[in-house]
Amino acid sequence: MSVSTGERMKITILGARGSVPTEGADMLEFGGATSCVLIETDTWAVFFDAGTGIMNAPEVGDKNIAIFLTHPHVDHLLGLPFFPYITKEKHIDFYAVKRGELTARQQLDKFLCPPLWPCPVDAYKADFEFHDIKFPVKIGDITITGMPSVHPGGSVVYRLEHGEDSFVYATDYEYDEKTVGDLIEFAKDTDLILMDGQYTEEEYAKRRGYGHSTPAQGMRIFKESGAGAIRFVHHDPTHTDEFLKKMEAEIKCENASFARKGEVIYL
Ligand SMILES: [Zn+2]
Ligand SMILES: [Zn+2]
Repeated sequence: MSVSTGERMKITILGARGSVPTEGADMLEFGGATSCVLIETDTWAVFFDAGTGIMNAPEVGDKNIAIFLTHPHVDHLLGLPFFPYITKEKHIDFYAVKRGELTARQQLDKFLCPPLWPCPVDAYKADFEFHDIKFPVKIGDITITGMPSVHPGGSVVYRLEHGEDSFVYATDYEYDEKTVGDLIEFAKDTDLILMDGQYTEEEYAKRRGYGHSTPAQGMRIFKESGAGAIRFVHHDPTHTDEFLKKMEAEIKCENASFARKGEVIYL
């Protein structure tokens, strides 16, 4: 990772579980909360995805808040009604790429709508501002770019840059031989990649087309991109702490590991 010159960027893993929230004494270390990553600078709190991990968002003081959705699958939105700042009079910039004809606003409306959920977004105190993403997005001194992921219904891989620091969020991505070069290029020389590593090789053989990858596939992207570190995310809901640690041990690379609940990474 780059040597910090002045203010550092702080990344907190609020949820690293994939597909559906889990619980149990055998899942405490990696956690059961679904996708959510918080990136903090001195003026911004940027959330990538609003899975149940966003329920555990820490106090961010008077920082500006933005949420960037990768795609509207329910595991990436499920925590939003319990986001601590949704019940406060706080401005929240909500960003998503249009899905078909659906705007960012409409994607959220599909979820926060009876009979799926009793309260529409306007029922909450927060002042939402919706943005249909046109890359690059600039918020304060942060720049966010994106590329299409390989995932049923579509998703986006984000790259966030702040000063000398950068990282790539590639959850819900299925390794694809034909286009993997684009992702390697996109992640070139970044400090950190958060990468979908949901399946073992055996599982992947049975779940091709589900939109997720294996750690071995992620390691190829990591090595060829020249990135500084990789953390695997979107843990399969059936994988216990013990199982994930076994998968992790097989990687055999000191800069590679599986993301833990609450893990904090400074760039
Ligand atoms: Zn997902
Ligand atoms: Zn998905």
